Amino acid sequence: MKVILADYSGFCFGVEKAINTTFGELEKKQKDQNIYSLGPLIHNNQVVKNLEEKGIEVIENIEDLSEGSIIIRSHGVSEKIYEELENKGLNIIDATCPFVRRIQNIVKNYYGKGYTIAIIGNSCHPEVIGINGWCNNQAIIINKEEDIHKVPSVDKLCIVVQTTMAVEQYNTISEKLENYAKEVVKFNTICLATKERQNAAKHLATKVDAMVVIGGQHSSNTQKLVSICKKIKPNDTFHVETIKDLPINTFKKYETIGVTAGASTPRWIISEAIETIRNI
Ligand code: SF4
Repeated sequence: MKVILADYSGFCFGVEKAINTTFGELEKKQKDQNIYSLGPLIHNNQVVKNLEEKGIEVIENIEDLSEGSIIIRSHGVSEKIYEELENKGLNIIDATCPFVRRIQNIVKNYYGKGYTIAIIGNSCHPEVIGINGWCNNQAIIINKEEDIHKVPSVDKLCIVVQTTMAVEQYNTISEKLENYAKEVVKFNTICLATKERQNAAKHLATKVDAMVVIGGQHSSNTQKLVSICKKIKPNDTFHVETIKDLPINTFKKYETIGVTAGASTPRWIISEAIETIRNI
């Protein structure tokens, strides 16, 4: 079986930075020191399990914490969480991706100038929840075109977008949102890594018989890759987390398979999958 790996597959700059920061902390870790991660460090179960075995405990809220170090993952957190962590005297290890930090700064700045903030993204995603926390949780969050009618007319609107959104979705929604305010500022804050990955996946999907997208079930950027590939290969796109999910028998009918992977997928999982498909 011929297998082609899409460019820009696997760990992005922000995830790589978060992982390196965490391993750096583990090296310095004292015997009795507790290191926590506020939510799973990345959306990949295998990596999170590995880090847990090495001593990084995942916690979902900080209420009961009174000591130790806490890692803020690449998705970032709200302004209020920083204040709470500082008040508790916890050692903050900040792995917020600089692309996410940029959005938080834009939102804080424009909210302070009296703009209503619109975030194009998934309201349940930690990155969006965090960004909303830089404008007093007052942002209007729109995930799909059908939600636009819920937006009230305002004087000044500042539009940002979740870093992992599909570019087409941003273009369509942001254009329509422009009709809802007298004055609009727009920031296409989709990160470069996401754009490059999506373009490469789209390009490869047109050249192969089937596409395999490797990444966590909860990974937003992986889900976007799946929907982009499905537009080109509706019945021949497969989302898998590890080689255990590969539908080997179905693959036998194909000659060439393309592989791409989300930003939280480690290289070893990609290599293992490629090797398994190649041997079919
Ligand atoms: S996908 Fe982009 S914004 Fe998100 S962590 Fe990676 S580089 Fe940063």
